[in-house]
Amino acid sequence: STVSRAIIYSEYGNPRECVKVFEHKLEAPTGSQAIIRLLAAPINPSDINQIEGVYPSRPELSTKIGTTQPSAVGGNEGVFEVVSVGNGVSSLKVGDWVLPGALNFGTWRTHISVDESQVYKLRSSEGLTPLQAATVSVNPTTAHQMLTEFVNLQKGDWFIQNGATSGVGRAAIQLGRIWGLNSISVIRDRAEPDLAKIKDDLYSLGATHVVTDSELNDKSIKKQIDEWTGGASIQLGFNCVGGKSATNVARQLGHSGQLITYGGMSKQPLTFPTSLFIFKNFISRGYWLSEWSKKNPQGKFAVVEKLLDLYRAGELTDVPVTKNTWRESSSNSEIEETFKTAIDNSKTGKQLIEL
Ligand code: NDP
Repeated sequence: STVSRAIIYSEYGNPRECVKVFEHKLEAPTGSQAIIRLLAAPINPSDINQIEGVYPSRPELSTKIGTTQPSAVGGNEGVFEVVSVGNGVSSLKVGDWVLPGALNFGTWRTHISVDESQVYKLRSSEGLTPLQAATVSVNPTTAHQMLTEFVNLQKGDWFIQNGATSGVGRAAIQLGRIWGLNSISVIRDRAEPDLAKIKDDLYSLGATHVVTDSELNDKSIKKQIDEWTGGASIQLGFNCVGGKSATNVARQLGHSGQLITYGGMSKQPLTFPTSLFIFKNFISRGYWLSEWSKKNPQGKFAVVEKLLDLYRAGELTDVPVTKNTWRESSSNSEIEETFKTAIDNSKTGKQLIEL
């Protein structure tokens, strides 16, 4: 049998205090069951929100894996390798890389026993790193959908976004470059030399222009943007942040422009001038990837494969992460401490758990 160590929680609250390691045995797989082993899984903001109990989609708390209290395993995204299969398994073989087939999978664990129907087998793992496969299905997929679902953008068209340093923002910049779209990326103010470093970083991904929130808040920005776009109307904006930053992004949209809100990192509500709605037919709406993937899992994995090809071709650059390593030989308390450190550090940058 295989020993699995899982990061579980049985009540909602501050993740550092709620999570703990739970060790349990997995029996050798029979029938259509397979045992898969973690390669890598990120900590995304929504994973944290699930543990805080403030995210609308959550795994149910149950005693399925043998906990005394009803619990859930954290994490929604990640890539696993098949390590053993039951004799009725037809779609998987040892060594295949698989992604969670559905939401609330519980990816923060060393091993999991699944039915083959619960996972999506990647066409191939060749030319991919665990980091790329572990982080493709949420952020780059969201950027892909937001760039294609709302406005029929043509080569040379513009979009504007805040939260441009986020995983979604970086993917949007790069897909824009690949598709011949121009982007204006808004980032938070910061002191030099960090500011120049971040700007260079986003320009190297293919950002057309990068501005800070305070530059976007200055009246002169309108004229500046008009010069950049040659007066072309900006029809699409993405909002990751909320508050004043979102208001300022909305002001730059042209007539009938759409602002798509996908995150609320500042925790500030959205406020827009009435005049935008009346005189510019401003459209403010939201996007939730989970909703789309639930309705259209095949469409989602088609986008995932397309994005993985872009990684293979070197067209998409890896999202910067801090790697936190679990080893098979790690004790349970080491597994837990490594994870809690990653949770703490997730406030200042994307964390990856790898095994
Ligand atoms: P990352 O961890 O990669 O990036 C976080 C981003 O938020 C950075 O750009 C960071 O800016 C910014 N940020 C952090 N704190 C604040 C703050 N207090 N005020 C303003 N900006 C802040 O995140 P992801 O790309 O994984 O996710 C970003 C957002 O998108 C999250 O809200 C997430 O839930 C959401 N999301 C939504 C999806 C959907 O379907 N609706 C799908 C995927 C993600 P800085 O670099 O300056 O620190």
